[in-house]
Amino acid sequence: MADVICERCGRAAGPLDWHCTACSGPLKIADLPPFDPEAIRTHEWSLWRYTAMLPAVRRFSLGEGMTPLVPVALPDKPFLAKLEYLSPTASYKDRGMAVMFNHLLAHGVEAVVEDSSGNAGASLAAYAGGIGIDARVFVPADAPAGKKTQIARFGATLVEVTGSRADVTAACEKAAQDIPYASHAWNPFYLAGQMTIAWEIWEQMGHRAPDAIVCPVGQGGLLLGLARGFAALHEAGLIAHVPRLYAIQSAACDPIVKAWEAEHDAPIPVSSGETIAGGIKITAPVRGREVLAALRGSGGAAYRVSDSAITAAQTILAAHGLFVEPTSAVPVAALDRVQAHLDRAAEIVIPLTGSGLKT
Ligand SMILES: [Zn+2]
Repeated sequence: MADVICERCGRAAGPLDWHCTACSGPLKIADLPPFDPEAIRTHEWSLWRYTAMLPAVRRFSLGEGMTPLVPVALPDKPFLAKLEYLSPTASYKDRGMAVMFNHLLAHGVEAVVEDSSGNAGASLAAYAGGIGIDARVFVPADAPAGKKTQIARFGATLVEVTGSRADVTAACEKAAQDIPYASHAWNPFYLAGQMTIAWEIWEQMGHRAPDAIVCPVGQGGLLLGLARGFAALHEAGLIAHVPRLYAIQSAACDPIVKAWEAEHDAPIPVSSGETIAGGIKITAPVRGREVLAALRGSGGAAYRVSDSAITAAQTILAAHGLFVEPTSAVPVAALDRVQAHLDRAAEIVIPLTGSGLKT
């Protein structure tokens, strides 16, 4: 069983704790195995090909991981798209949920709570339902109907909360006093699953890393998974450097971009305005310090984009055969600025995180 400790004060935590009970800091897994290319189970066409590097053993799987990496020939702005929206529940969240739920299953957990604007809730509901764990998912009352339907059809109990996204989280944390909190923002086993996207990109590019990766950032789980996954490859001597990481946010909710511009180490909490990028409407990301450190450490940057630019990017992607939700088009809306920050010939990867069918 993996050892869990507090990232901030180093205290040991329990396997089902969602944060440090002493200092409320986020938790991490202390003894993750190093990346070993010889240990990849190459006959296994899911993220469980990396079992030797993961902190949970597979007992239940929906075949998550191994999404396509395809070139997208935008004029003057070519990039490689990692089609995460082809995951079992149509978003990248399945990577983290698969690893977290196999961990919860190993500990005999019978019920969980989670708060989500949509994709995490749907993914959690699918894995909880498939495994037989009772799930209550707290969602904003104004979340897209398609996402709420998906959560309910997987058999989870939907708890609709009127108010801000922070109100939803507060209601969930209250419920988490009695029931394990399977949080995609806090849970370190969820983040471990997100590292597998970096390892797949490395394999799909012929054991190389791209020059840059551009992500939509709300809580930052995708970006942190990429940062940690590529760091593991770097520590194993398999890549010369970690790709530059770019965090893109909606201009209506930009705590990371504000901190980046002000050269702060911690996110600057904002009160969110309306945006079509509902998946990243997070006013105070819980691991925001680590997100900012990953941007700095990789030589990346943070940019904000407007809703009209997001809509335009979504339309361009659809014209190239890629049907994604607005949040997934956020990095494409910032491609001009990312390119201006890089060499002209730089290879850029963009994970396309969630399906357009959801909205
Ligand atoms: Zn602590």
